[in-house]
Amino acid sequence: MTVSAWERPWCGRLSRTDLGREVELVGWLRRRRDLGGLVFVDLRDRTGLVQLVFEDAMVGEGEKLSGQDVLRVRGVVRERAEGQANPDLATGEVEVRVDELELLSEAETPPFVIEDDTNASEDLRLSYRYLDLRRPVMAANLVLRHRVVAETRRYFDEMEFVEVETPILTRSTPEGARDFLVPSRLHKGSFYALPQSPQLFKQLLQVAGLGRYVQIARCFRDEDLRADRQPEFTQIDVEASFVREEDILLLTEGLFRRIFPLVGIEPPDPFPRLQYAQAMERFGSDRPDTRFGLELVELGPLCAGCGFRVLEAAAAEGRVKGLVLPGGAALSRKQLDALSDFVKPYGAAGVLWFKRTAEGVASPAKKALGEAGVERFLDAAAAGPGDLLLVVGGAEKVVLAVLGALRVHLARQHDLIPEGRHDFLWVTDFPLLEWSDEDGRFYACHHPFTAPRPEDADRLESDPATVHARAYDVVLDGVELGGGSIRINNPALQRRMFAALGIDEEEAKARFGFLLEAFRYGVPPHGGIALGLDRIVMLMAGLDSIRDVIAFPKTTSGACLMTAAPAGVNPSQLSELGIESRRKDEG
Ligand code: ASP
Repeated sequence: MTVSAWERPWCGRLSRTDLGREVELVGWLRRRRDLGGLVFVDLRDRTGLVQLVFEDAMVGEGEKLSGQDVLRVRGVVRERAEGQANPDLATGEVEVRVDELELLSEAETPPFVIEDDTNASEDLRLSYRYLDLRRPVMAANLVLRHRVVAETRRYFDEMEFVEVETPILTRSTPEGARDFLVPSRLHKGSFYALPQSPQLFKQLLQVAGLGRYVQIARCFRDEDLRADRQPEFTQIDVEASFVREEDILLLTEGLFRRIFPLVGIEPPDPFPRLQYAQAMERFGSDRPDTRFGLELVELGPLCAGCGFRVLEAAAAEGRVKGLVLPGGAALSRKQLDALSDFVKPYGAAGVLWFKRTAEGVASPAKKALGEAGVERFLDAAAAGPGDLLLVVGGAEKVVLAVLGALRVHLARQHDLIPEGRHDFLWVTDFPLLEWSDEDGRFYACHHPFTAPRPEDADRLESDPATVHARAYDVVLDGVELGGGSIRINNPALQRRMFAALGIDEEEAKARFGFLLEAFRYGVPPHGGIALGLDRIVMLMAGLDSIRDVIAFPKTTSGACLMTAAPAGVNPSQLSELGIESRRKDEG
């Protein structure tokens, strides 16, 4: 009997319904146990494992196996002996008595133990990623990712979207990050840029009349990396014509209601919405985690003439806000100092604390404010007995960023995030532009093709900072899953937007001339969104690094430890490209 590969059962799927069946199995040896006259072997594939038994004449064959050998066996599925069932294993009630064995490939001892629980360092795992991916938990992440992509494609197909591939070798696209450049051999001295997103192409597909576009698109941004960032990542990229904000929000919610149930998460219908300004005031973040309280309270009005100079000055020049940690009055001096250290990298000098305890109130500001003054602050923040009020003052940007970060830090530290809860929400009404003190100019909060709210558009020149964008972000548990906007579809408005960003006619023509040109030939109102596939799968799998849901990710320094990319190239390759490489120290 030769079975076709496609008919062979998976190791991890055998069950009582297969009892008595003769099966052919293939996979990797996971563990061998010799019981004298009996050899047990676990055979593993990506679905799980099943126990093989070598007995009688086959014992000698079983004894030869080791490590991660690759096997093909034939045998009969039978019930495990009385009391031998393993309830922790999907195949725990059955085993396969081996009648025939073929050793397909002998394996050396791997550099780390291939089990779900591993203490191998991430570097070692990344260097031998193919062994790391043999671990069932990692394989499950890849399978989940595949399911999400498959369901996403089904959903958009049903909604009559068309998947279109856009170029990888292109020219600089405007998401505000650094480009990866690829030198051109045929046009020496010229470079392609890898796309930071397919933004302009998906807009041009609307000018083309496609109407509904989707792409599981690879994007490239040469940025400093973190746990939830990679130099190349995948977006579910969407654009549609004749739509308003509402249409894109409903479309996205519909997608999430299709994919999140794959892991038992049921998103709400509809998603709550929060305006950007509210999100910042209440949570100190434009991607608020609303699964716990610790909301920010306004303390500015209490500060004028309060007697504590630091607060008076902060309120006069900026903002003073705080948050209450319930039960936090029990925090030690050392723990409070640690909080001050935590906020320093965010630009604050420290945190001022106020406690209400059975003995009364306490604060380093008590001398200046007096007992009644301290009470006033605690009352304004509704801090009850046993509570701690933490206060930060200074420039608005700093105060909000510091308290936003502190809020999340405290929630984690004090275990305030309810297990199993997931909060989806939209953040809307973003500002169109953001002022950079450093560069003395405005930047687009989203990107330069985002439309201003029509009622604000006439302030684009006179009061640009007050113009709102027709942009939206979708957030889950404090993680931004994606964002998009309704686009500018009027060439005159697009030019005014470029001007507001300090991009003059000439530069606009050089960088985006093809878009402006296209806008002359009939451009429908359109808008879209891009969703971070890696982050979505990461959250669905309950993980906190996107590297664990990417088959071959890079380290935080952008290196691939397995292939040793990036790597030097042959001088002849460079000369073909017309490039001369000189190290800095060579002058
Ligand atoms: N291109 C945008 C991004 O990558 C998303 C969008 O506006 O659709 O963030």
